[in-house]
Amino acid sequence: MGEIAGRASTTGVRLHRFDDIPDQLLEVEARELWQYLPGPSFFSLPGRDSQPLFVSVLLHGNEDTGWTAVQNVLRRRLQSGNPLGRRLLLFVGNIAAAKENLRTLDTQADYNRSWPGTRYPESAEAALMREVVEVVTAENPFASIDIHNNTGNNPHYACVNHLGQDHFHLARLFSRTVVFFTRPVGVLSAAMAKFCPSVTVECGLPGSAIAAEHAAEFIGAALSLSAFPEHPIPEHDLDLLQTAVILRVPPDATFSYDDSEADFHFRSDLDRLNFSELSPGTWLGNLGGKMDRRLIAVPGGEFDVDPESYISYDNGKIVLAQGAIPAMLTRDPRAVRLDCLGYLMHRIDRTGRRIATR
Ligand SMILES: [Zn+2]
Repeated sequence: MGEIAGRASTTGVRLHRFDDIPDQLLEVEARELWQYLPGPSFFSLPGRDSQPLFVSVLLHGNEDTGWTAVQNVLRRRLQSGNPLGRRLLLFVGNIAAAKENLRTLDTQADYNRSWPGTRYPESAEAALMREVVEVVTAENPFASIDIHNNTGNNPHYACVNHLGQDHFHLARLFSRTVVFFTRPVGVLSAAMAKFCPSVTVECGLPGSAIAAEHAAEFIGAALSLSAFPEHPIPEHDLDLLQTAVILRVPPDATFSYDDSEADFHFRSDLDRLNFSELSPGTWLGNLGGKMDRRLIAVPGGEFDVDPESYISYDNGKIVLAQGAIPAMLTRDPRAVRLDCLGYLMHRIDRTGRRIATR
């Protein structure tokens, strides 16, 4: 496999560029990739249509569905002997974290908070992502797909960062549930939305063959699409949601899911609430300790809302104070510490206006 034009970053992480992918890699698991690839790797693969599809996988090292999906797509290409429908630009991101089966190493900035728009533009990771964007945008991409997993019980869903027909059409190739978000910043799909239709897809828990096949079908559909349809997607064919609030546990507070002593005792089935329409008064858990700690609630979107008004603490009970639809509520302590406890969303129409809850 010939490596081409790798540019050394002044700050330590380097992008490795290849114009081919060895068949051998199609059998290598995400956590073994470090034995074959020297670091973050970028592949430019041929296809019938010269306008490329950009696909990104393993920005989070423990989220393997994207890599498995790409392997499925490329294995099929190999078996059929047919070229891909269009060129494929593939970014395989955090191989070092994948080795440890971690989202991000302690020594790294998060690979999906480091894209242009990031709060930390000085980091080595931000320089790496700027280089990826430069390389991809120079090729006038057809669309951009970033594949992730999450830690809670969630359906598969797509996320967009721009309310545009082509973005909806791309998202709809994956799922009818589509989340529009503007925060957190520094994510790949937001950076690429300035150049082409762009989505993040969330494929549930890692390690699922079904999830990988779903993502592979999605990549396949995007590779075969010659152009995005002119007509809008029918109203009833798309469930559009927007994040209103991001919930976090204060870094110095303790939490549990099993009633062991902590500042926050979350209900043990917290992630079962994801994507259901919750009414005010829904119980999320209890306060422990001196019962004086409060969750951090920050705006997650453009809604004119007071984030603090979403949660109330009545007699030590943590309850939802307003109707909302949660996403990515997690029972994984590491995800809570590294990212957040979860999101609260509302339904919106195609223009971003909030739709009253049923
Ligand atoms: Zn992720």
